[in-house]
Amino acid sequence: MYRIGIDLGGTFIAAGLVNESLRILDKLSVPTSAPRSMAGIADDMAALTGKLLERSGLRREEISAVGVGVPGTANRENGHLEDANNLGFDDEPFVSVLEERLGLPVRFGNDANAAAWGEYQAGGGREDSFVMMTIGTGIGGGVILNGRLWDGINGAAAEFGHMTIRYDGVPCTCGRTGCFEAYASATALIRQARERMAADRDTLLWKLCGGEPDRVEARTVFEGAAAGDKACRALLDTYTTYLAEGTANIINLFQPAVLCVGGGVSRAGEALLAPLREKTARRIYSQNAKQNTQIILAQLDNDAGIIGAALLEP
Ligand SMILES: [Zn+2]
Repeated sequence: MYRIGIDLGGTFIAAGLVNESLRILDKLSVPTSAPRSMAGIADDMAALTGKLLERSGLRREEISAVGVGVPGTANRENGHLEDANNLGFDDEPFVSVLEERLGLPVRFGNDANAAAWGEYQAGGGREDSFVMMTIGTGIGGGVILNGRLWDGINGAAAEFGHMTIRYDGVPCTCGRTGCFEAYASATALIRQARERMAADRDTLLWKLCGGEPDRVEARTVFEGAAAGDKACRALLDTYTTYLAEGTANIINLFQPAVLCVGGGVSRAGEALLAPLREKTARRIYSQNAKQNTQIILAQLDNDAGIIGAALLEP
């Protein structure tokens, strides 16, 4: 049997045909064009599903389910998409509308939680406890406890980005100040890099971004550090310290067997993970215990959303 995973993003709706070895065999996407009606989005999802079937030559009966990761509050009890701030939806009967359009069983869940579920399954799904931390524009995540995705009462659990690491810190998009993602997301690292550039004409960052601070990305800082630039090394030292503060909080809360790090910033690989592991180890409560959380890199990259959605359970 095959499954279809759909990642409903603020910019694109991406759908993929996933086989039993958790590989994406074919992938299609269309612009989300939000804000737009739920009916329009459901029509697009039905069209994408139809095209995937047509291109693969599969029959509808060979698809066991369609799973959708949504950017918001997915009530998996009643199948309603209760809140999706970027899309302008409010309490839509998402699952029933989609099942009617597709003629297939539909499962859905919060997108970050779905991605966590995908990484968990891709790693074999053997651990009792597994936490995913996604470092991108913000910091999201997902928690698997006793082998099951922990949704929380609103289907949006594990908003790691919005735990405070400095009570008097910088303002966050959520209305609080000093949130983890205001210091340790890709957006935060870019802000820190631009602040440094304003104060330091000599940093290699100026050359790497062609003299245009708007072109600085998180990876620009890693590039500069790899080339030996002192300012970039200092930036990363501070950045990974912020990241370790939040990571240690997460580990202290859950003591998961595995903490998996994904999102755009994780593409830096060991340049990120080595200092993160070392700094986190010095901060966790049970640092002298015989076994501790293993911090690993995500393996599905951008495909985690589609694969995780495809694998969602009812
Ligand atoms: Zn916040």
